[in-house]
Amino acid sequence: MAILKVARLGHPVLRKAALPVPPDEIPSPDLQRYIDDMIETMREYSGAGLAATQVHTLKQIAVIEVMGNPRYPDAPDIPLTVLINPEVTFLTDEMEEGWEGCLSIPDMRGIVPRYTSLRLLAYDRTGARMDLVAKDFFARVIQHEADHLNGIVYLDRMKDFSSLTHLAEWSKYWLGVREQGD
Ligand SMILES: [Zn+2]
Repeated sequence: MAILKVARLGHPVLRKAALPVPPDEIPSPDLQRYIDDMIETMREYSGAGLAATQVHTLKQIAVIEVMGNPRYPDAPDIPLTVLINPEVTFLTDEMEEGWEGCLSIPDMRGIVPRYTSLRLLAYDRTGARMDLVAKDFFARVIQHEADHLNGIVYLDRMKDFSSLTHLAEWSKYWLGVREQGD
């Protein structure tokens, strides 16, 4: 396994749309190794998720995991989830504001409105179809990662930049303040 290099804001790869993975490619050793590398990279940098575009690969793959994450100390746990070719349908018009950060935008946080409930269709890493309903923080992370696969970063989703905060100031002034406004 290997730690992959994470593209930072400004690298053109972050603004490109990823392509679907042919389902018969999912079990291949190369793709499986790449998924393992993505998981290792996400854990190394304490990400809540990582999209393949962030590690310079234009394939529709994202990994998500939150287990006592030091970067998100008040976030609920999410077991390791591998999404391939995710398709998201929102199940509500309701949006909630919450803090987000991104490994490609280091040491920053901002408040982002996200839909609170969605249906996710995807392949898992075995090639099996996944069909689930996600809510709240899990729905937020899925939206963040699905956006990456379309060349979108969380800054694009912010209503304004008044909440944009360096991580040290976030820890000092905003940790534990989950919602603002609405
Ligand atoms: Zn991100």
